[in-house]
Amino acid sequence: MAASLEGEGRAAASRGIAVLLPLPLERPYDYRVADGALPPPGALVRVPLGKRDVVGVVWGPATGEVAAERLRDVIEVLPLPPLTAELRALVDWTARYTLSPAGAVLRMALSVPSAFDAPKVPLGYRRAALSPPAGTKLTPARERVLAIASSRAMPLGELATAAQVTPSVVTALAKTGVLERAPVASGAVFAAPDWRKGGVRLTSDQRTAADSLIASANGFSVTLLDGVTGSGKTEVYFEAIAAALAADKQAVVLLPEIALTAQWLARFQARFGVAPAEWHSDLGTALRRETWRAVAGGQARVVVGARSALFLPFPNLGLIVVDEEHDSSFKQEDGVIYNARDMAVVRGRLAQIPVVLASATPSLETVINVERGRYKRIVLPERFAGAKQPAVTIADMRMEKLPRQNFLGSALRSALGENLAAGEQSMLFLNRRGYAPLTLCRSCGHRIECRNCSTWLVEHRLVGRLMCHHCGHSEGLPIACPVCGAAESFAACGPGVERLEEEVAALLPAARLAVVTSDTVGSPAAAAEFVRQVTEHEIDVLIGTQIVAKGHHFPLLTLVGIVDADLGLAGGDLRAAERTFQVLHQVAGRAGREQRPGRVIVQSYMPEHPVIAALAANDRDRFMAEEAKDRAERGMPPYGRLAALIVSGPDHAMVDNMASALARTAPRDEGIEVWGPAEAPLRLLRGRHRRRLLLTASRDIDVPETMRSWIARVPQMSGVRVQVDIDPYSFL
Ligand code: ADP
Ligand code: ZN
Repeated sequence: MAASLEGEGRAAASRGIAVLLPLPLERPYDYRVADGALPPPGALVRVPLGKRDVVGVVWGPATGEVAAERLRDVIEVLPLPPLTAELRALVDWTARYTLSPAGAVLRMALSVPSAFDAPKVPLGYRRAALSPPAGTKLTPARERVLAIASSRAMPLGELATAAQVTPSVVTALAKTGVLERAPVASGAVFAAPDWRKGGVRLTSDQRTAADSLIASANGFSVTLLDGVTGSGKTEVYFEAIAAALAADKQAVVLLPEIALTAQWLARFQARFGVAPAEWHSDLGTALRRETWRAVAGGQARVVVGARSALFLPFPNLGLIVVDEEHDSSFKQEDGVIYNARDMAVVRGRLAQIPVVLASATPSLETVINVERGRYKRIVLPERFAGAKQPAVTIADMRMEKLPRQNFLGSALRSALGENLAAGEQSMLFLNRRGYAPLTLCRSCGHRIECRNCSTWLVEHRLVGRLMCHHCGHSEGLPIACPVCGAAESFAACGPGVERLEEEVAALLPAARLAVVTSDTVGSPAAAAEFVRQVTEHEIDVLIGTQIVAKGHHFPLLTLVGIVDADLGLAGGDLRAAERTFQVLHQVAGRAGREQRPGRVIVQSYMPEHPVIAALAANDRDRFMAEEAKDRAERGMPPYGRLAALIVSGPDHAMVDNMASALARTAPRDEGIEVWGPAEAPLRLLRGRHRRRLLLTASRDIDVPETMRSWIARVPQMSGVRVQVDIDPYSFL
C-alpha cells in the first residue's frame, strides 16, 4: 500500500512543472499537468491561484517544494508561441539585477492580461452564416443589419446605428444564428515592411556608417551611433533595420518620448512602405492585445515604442536600437526600477544580436564603454546637406534690467522680433510646466504645499488649478490665504511656460503661439497635430518644456531661445551638469536644420559655468572629458557603482526605525561606503515619509548581491517599504 502511494507520488512529480506568474512573486510555483504532453519551457499556461486563475509561463521542471500529490492542475496550455529562452533569461537577469520579484518583471513581458482573457476584450457582432436559417422573417430593418454586418465584428451600438435600427433588432437576429458574438478587432494590420523599397540616398559618411552597422548584423555587439543633431542618424539605423528584415528577423526601436514620434513614423513609412507597430501606454486595450500577439506571432516585424517595448515577446529579434540613448526617461522609476538602455544591452547579449545606441550627446557611461573598447563607435560629424551647426551666443542675464516677472532679455526679445518679421519660426525652451513654479501669499509669505508631498503646488492657468507634479493632486486657488486670511493675496512667482506665453504675446501681438508640454501634447494624436501645425507654419513661436527638445525636425525653425539655462544645474544631482548639457544641446540642435542658418541664444546668470561655456564653444568632447575626470576623482559612475535605498511609509517613526536599522547593518566591506540615512529631498511623497541611504562601491563589487544580503539582515516591517534603486538617476 505504502509502496504504491509512493509510486504514484513519483509519477505525479514527473508531470510537475514550475510556472512563473506575472505577480510580485520571487519564484515560480509548481503545478501538475494532468494529461497530454508536458508544455515546453516558455509555454503560456492558465493555472489556478487561490480562487481565481492566472496566465503564467512555464519556467522549468517542478521545484519539488510542494509534495507532488498536493499540486494543482494546469487548466490549459494557451495556443500561443512559447516565450523564448532568451526572454526568460532577460526576465531572470533583470529581476536579479534590480532586486525585483521575477514575477513583477514577467508582468512587463506579458503586460496585457487581456491578451489571454477573452471577456476583457469588447465583444461585438459579426456575420456567422451567409443566410439566415429557412423560415427566418426578414424585415427591412433586419435586411439593413445584414447588409452591414461583415466578417469583422462591430460593437453592438455601432452596428445598430449604422443600420438605423434599435440594438434589439441586432440581438434578435443573432438568436437566429446568422450573426454571432465575437471580439471587436482594432482593425490594426501588421503588414511586413518592405526593406527593398529604398529610402533617401545616403551621403558617403552615412553610407559608411550604415555599412558598418550592417557588417555587425550577426552576433552580439553594441555600437554607439554618435552623430551631431541633424546628421541623419535615423536614416542610418534604418539601414540596420533593413538588414535585420532582410535576414527575416524582427527589430525594436526604443524612443524616449513616444508621444512625439509622428515624424519618425512618417519617415519609417517613407523608407519601408508601411507603418511599424507601436507600443506605448496610450494604446487601447484591443490594439494592445493585438500588437502583443502580433509580436509574439512574428507578424509585427518592427516595433517602435517606449522603454517597455524591450520586454515584448519577440520570437526572432535581430536588432535593438535605442535612440537618444542618453535620455533619462529610459529609467523607470517605480515598480521594477530599471534602465531600458542598459537592459537593451543585456537583451542584446542574451539574444546574441546587435544593439545600436544613437545620440548626439551620448551618456558618459556609453562614452566610457567606447573608451574601454566594449562598444564600437561610428561618427557622423556633419549635418545633412551642408546645414551648419547653429551659432550659439550667451546672454549674460546679470547685465539685464528686466521688469518684474519678465524673463526675456534684450537679445532674445529682438531676435524673436526679427525672426517673426523674416517669416521664420522660433522656439523658447523653459523646463517648467504651468504658469509659475511658486504661488505665495503677498501678505504673510505662506506658500501652498501639496497635501501629499513635500513640494509646492504649481499654478496651471490653462486649467485654472494648482497642481502637484509629483502625485497629480490638484486644487483650486484659495480666495483667502489659509494662514493670515488676507483676501486675494496670492501671487505667482517665477516663470512657467504659460507665463512666458503671456510675455511673448505682449511682445509680439501678431505672432501665433503654442505652448508645448506634456499637458498639451500628451497623446500621440495631439502630438501629431502639433507637428502638423508647426510644419505647415501655422505657428510662429513654440514655447515648450523638454518635450520640444527631442527629435523634431522643423525646416523653418531658425531661432532657439533657452530662457533659463541654469535651471537644471541647481541641486546636488550627480548628473546635473551632464544632463543639462545634453538637454540644452538637444534643444539648440533644433535650430537651422536645413538651408536657413540657425542661431541659439542662451540666457544665463552664470556664463562661466562649464556647461554654459561648453555649449557656447560647441565643445562637447572637452566638456565630457572634464566631467569624466571629475567623476573618476570622486569614484562616481561610470568609475564606481551606486545604489540607493528608499525607505518609505505612512508612519514617520517607523520609517526612521527601519532606516536606522539598515544603517546599523550596512555592509562594511572594503571598497564600499554607505551614506545616510538622510531625509529625502522629497521627504513626503504621496503621503509617505521618505528616507534615503546611498551605497557607493568600486567597480569590482557585485552591487545587487551586496544589496540583497544587506536587506536580508533587517527584518521586514509591515507598513514600511524598502525600495532598491541600482544605478540611480533620481536622487529625490
Ligand atoms: P538626426 O537623427 O541625426 O538628428 P535625422 O535622421 O533626423 O538626423 O536627419 C535630419 C533630416 O535630414 C531629416 O529630415 C532627414 O530626413 C534628412 N536627411 C538625412 N539624411 C538624408 C539623406 N541622405 N537624404 C535626404 N534627406 C536626409
Ligand atoms: Zn503631491
